[in-house]
Amino acid sequence: MARTRLNPRLIKLNRSHTIEEVARHLRLSREAVRRWVRSGQLQPIDSGRPILLAGATLRAFLAERRAAAKRPTPPGHIYCLKCREPRPPALGMADFTPPPGRGAGNLRALCATCGTVMNRRARWEAVPVILPDVEVRVVEREGRIAERPTPSVNVAFKEHASA
Ligand SMILES: [Zn+2]
Repeated sequence: MARTRLNPRLIKLNRSHTIEEVARHLRLSREAVRRWVRSGQLQPIDSGRPILLAGATLRAFLAERRAAAKRPTPPGHIYCLKCREPRPPALGMADFTPPPGRGAGNLRALCATCGTVMNRRARWEAVPVILPDVEVRVVEREGRIAERPTPSVNVAFKEHASA
């Protein structure tokens, strides 16, 4: 298994990086880095050009990928960066953003435990296997799900769970 080793330590925590720099540090293609940004897995600092990525955001993203690769995520779960555990989506709901072309899109849901946004790349055909019994909504652009205030989601989830 020739898995690329991504070393988060090459990323300087307190500065921002261009796609070019990230690709060089991680020995990845620029296209691979752009895909992370396009899919919403990696949020740029702002909408300006060139696209800039915060070191801290990148480190967290890479750490999450490593952790997720180490432990298999059971069906019905997505790996939560904050909990450091696979978690089911809050309210049994998730968004799926299709890829611009062929390949994998992005599954996004809120962690049922802590409310943090969880992302997972997936092909549409695999979604029912990854998240059985979860209501998956197809969204053309990365959804508003990330912008929902976390507290109200937690409250809603508790109500849902006790109903
Ligand atoms: Zn969580």
